[in-house]
Amino acid sequence: MNLSIVISGCGLVGAAAARALSQAGHKVRVIERVSQWLPRGAGVALPANATSQLAKLGLLKQIEPFAQQGSAISYLTASGDRLCHRAFDGLYPDDAPYLALRYQDLHEQLVAGLEDIPVAMGTEISEVRQSDSDNSVAAKLSSGEQLHCDLLLSAEGLHSPLRQTLFPGTALDDLGLFCWRFLAKKPDGFGHDPQLYLGRNDAFLIYPLSSGDVYCYGHRADQDTLHLDEAEALAQLQQCFSGYVPAVVQLTQGKMLENRLITGRMRVLNNPVWSSGRVLCIGDAAHGCGPILQQGVAQGLEDVTVLTEVLGGLTNKEQLPQALEQFRLRRDPRVRWVCEHSNTPLRLLSSEDEQLRNTRLKATGPIHTQGWEALFKSQP
Ligand SMILES: Cc1cc2nc3c(=O)[nH]c(=O)nc-3n(C[C@H](O)[C@H](O)[C@H](O)COP(=O)(O)OP(=O)(O)OC[C@H]3O[C@@H](n4cnc5c(N)ncnc54)[C@H](O)[C@@H]3O)c2cc1C
Repeated sequence: MNLSIVISGCGLVGAAAARALSQAGHKVRVIERVSQWLPRGAGVALPANATSQLAKLGLLKQIEPFAQQGSAISYLTASGDRLCHRAFDGLYPDDAPYLALRYQDLHEQLVAGLEDIPVAMGTEISEVRQSDSDNSVAAKLSSGEQLHCDLLLSAEGLHSPLRQTLFPGTALDDLGLFCWRFLAKKPDGFGHDPQLYLGRNDAFLIYPLSSGDVYCYGHRADQDTLHLDEAEALAQLQQCFSGYVPAVVQLTQGKMLENRLITGRMRVLNNPVWSSGRVLCIGDAAHGCGPILQQGVAQGLEDVTVLTEVLGGLTNKEQLPQALEQFRLRRDPRVRWVCEHSNTPLRLLSSEDEQLRNTRLKATGPIHTQGWEALFKSQP
């Protein structure tokens, strides 16, 4: 049964959904708010359950040349003493790789597969109406055009206007962290594997990327700062990490690639929001979690493959609400688990007594691999 599907939002998850649903035979149209693709994001790390979904979408081989494969993660104190280390082998059943790459490279590869799908750039949905009589959704666009479809997907990200219209009470949670993200040249002698440095109330993570560059992420416990202008954001980054190991000091004091420093509060959507009638949220629009388990893209891609599977079982359009319920039942428990196991440890890392935290990490090993070990025991 082929459906007509409109996807609002063409970020990583919307682009992946457009590709997968179109390949499955559905008639897909995409609406994207920005009028052209400008550099966005910094880097993105993809654990094995994300790369195994990319393999299912036929994209892994295409992405690998842009990515650095990591084989282990280390946690260190700000002064460089090792707290714990864990290799990735054996964590995932079919040994799918752990990759890190530029957000933009991943997005370009996902969008490159959409040549045959109409993508309306610089367009938003201004009104949605659902009709039970003909099982359809009507979406009025900012261009004035009116679209009719069987299923409307919001892949609009964490601040999705469509989700806010359909589920007006849904609020984002603030994890009490202020974050910085940027790309830089890899410091001399830095290897292929990610390293997390932990200070008292702050942390700095370095992911090597294939091009000889690194993706850097830093955060500090901070309940108040809403926004900093560029100069102040840079000054506070340098000040916050000035007591860290020389590699971190060098990265924060040095040149940032594309002169871009991305900053902001860490906000999440703890309780997933799924469908209302024939409108379904996927990716960050449905569930945004903190980045410690690096599950943002993975969970969005899992949404895509599970949705493609459940829609593949339809024999007529009247069954769509049951298919969306089946989708919710499969996705909801796993996504809730991921949100809880991402957000609670992230809060703890910066609020727990430092000595206690370090003793605990020495005993348990990295939070990343502990979480993945549990998560990878089951499939989406
Ligand atoms: C600090 C930080 C670090 C992270 N690190 C990682 C990591 O290492 N690994 C990982 O997997 N994840 C990570 N994430 C999360 C990851 O970036 C997101 O989960 C992922 O980008 C979500 O993709 P998405 O397509 O759902 O949303 P987005 O990437 O936000 O894309 C949404 C798209 O919708 C468009 N849009 C928005 N509103 C509208 C509208 N009204 N109409 C039409 N289009 C619209 C936007 O322009 C955009 O193109 C991190 C997040 C943060 C904040």
